[in-house]
Amino acid sequence: MTIQRTFIMVKPDGVKRGLIGEIINRFEQKGFTLLNAELMNVDRQKAEYHYMELKEKPFFEELVDFITSGPVFAMVWEGESIIEVSRIMIGKTSPLEAMPGTIRGDFAFSKAENVIHGSDSLLSAEREIANFFDPLSICSARDKDYPFDERKS
Ligand code: UDP
Repeated sequence: MTIQRTFIMVKPDGVKRGLIGEIINRFEQKGFTLLNAELMNVDRQKAEYHYMELKEKPFFEELVDFITSGPVFAMVWEGESIIEVSRIMIGKTSPLEAMPGTIRGDFAFSKAENVIHGSDSLLSAEREIANFFDPLSICSARDKDYPFDERKS
């Protein structure tokens, strides 16, 4: 068992298109546990820190413009091998390459505005969660009353 936490974010295009419920539904159906979620505006400093590994890319400024252009829905999820599994559920970056059945395969039209972000490693997940959430605000899936069903391990 490798229980991990990851940072998942519905990007501004996904929020505007009303896809928050669809995305939460997919993660719940997969048996993952939601530990925190917030609809929020992202300032440039937070967006630049979030995408620090892409700082040298030609699309970096546009990416920061996009992420700060409207509310995002930031979430912390926990589950078995969730970093790898969530990346599969999300699909490839480009909508042309994202397979049908993945979130981007089903909903994304553009490589830049591609609906959703998911951490790609444990290290990134820790950094990204800390960038968006106060550690004390994150629920624990090991609390005795949460989650409320058989997913509790
Ligand atoms: N992106 C972009 N143009 C590109 C590649 C990426 O605008 O040519 C954006 C896109 O929103 C992507 C984000 O930068 O989701 C992060 O890129 P990364 O390569 O980390 O892809 P991801 O992990 O999101 O699939």
